[in-house]
Amino acid sequence: MIVASQSANALSCTSGSWKIWSLSDGHVDMPADLLRRGPGLGKYTLPESSRQEPSLVRLSVNCFLLEGAGNSGVLIDCGAGGQWEPSLGHLDSAMAEAGIDPSSIGVVALTHTHLDHLNGLITRDGRVAFANLSRIVIAHDAVAGFVDQPHLERFRHLLAPVRDGDQLADHLAALSIPGHAPGHMAYVLDSGEDRILFCGDVFHVPAAQFARPELTWAYDLDQSIACATRINLLREASNTRAWLAGAHMAKPGIGRVVEEGSGYTLLPIA
Ligand SMILES: [Zn+2]
Repeated sequence: MIVASQSANALSCTSGSWKIWSLSDGHVDMPADLLRRGPGLGKYTLPESSRQEPSLVRLSVNCFLLEGAGNSGVLIDCGAGGQWEPSLGHLDSAMAEAGIDPSSIGVVALTHTHLDHLNGLITRDGRVAFANLSRIVIAHDAVAGFVDQPHLERFRHLLAPVRDGDQLADHLAALSIPGHAPGHMAYVLDSGEDRILFCGDVFHVPAAQFARPELTWAYDLDQSIACATRINLLREASNTRAWLAGAHMAKPGIGRVVEEGSGYTLLPIA
């Protein structure tokens, strides 16, 4: 995978006949004490250098767009729209910066239904973000979390539920990564040259969770399962030299991992 362009909020890479974009929706500062020493354990104190302010840690919010020959764009997660902090909901600006027409997006694939991943279906000023959207790919187990949100009712007819292993398109498949949220789903692109795992919320505090994958996030639905998923994913990515692309990994959120000591270290793409 080779970096083709980079600007403040957008990075593009090429891999085989695919173009992969990282597009920034912004960032959100969260309480640092949401990070725990392990499933069911007390809080983990981050080194000061990894904190935004004494009590806060900054999470990037990244979306990824896949453009393959003959396919309309597949967008993996779509940010927070106008539903959270003003520091979020800027995917439309990142697309404009990158010269991407939002009407080129045919498919949105959701990793899960937390609001920083799906409310970007509607822009900050209340417009439908993607005029030509034909499908919203979502795990079967995440559908209820979508249907629970009345303001997204107009999109329900687009839901296309998938299970672990289902193909979304040629070379693109769903991969279950349980623990963080109901139906938490990764999407795996095999471009012929690279294997890229779009892994949603497996990592919240990349500055700590690569080196110590046992550290858990208090908002993981099941911390033990989320922890096992993270450890398995890191082992697999390291063994197969797969790329990881994470929603909350530091912008642009793409890198490879290598073993280091008892954990891993991330080698960012740029
Ligand atoms: Zn998230």
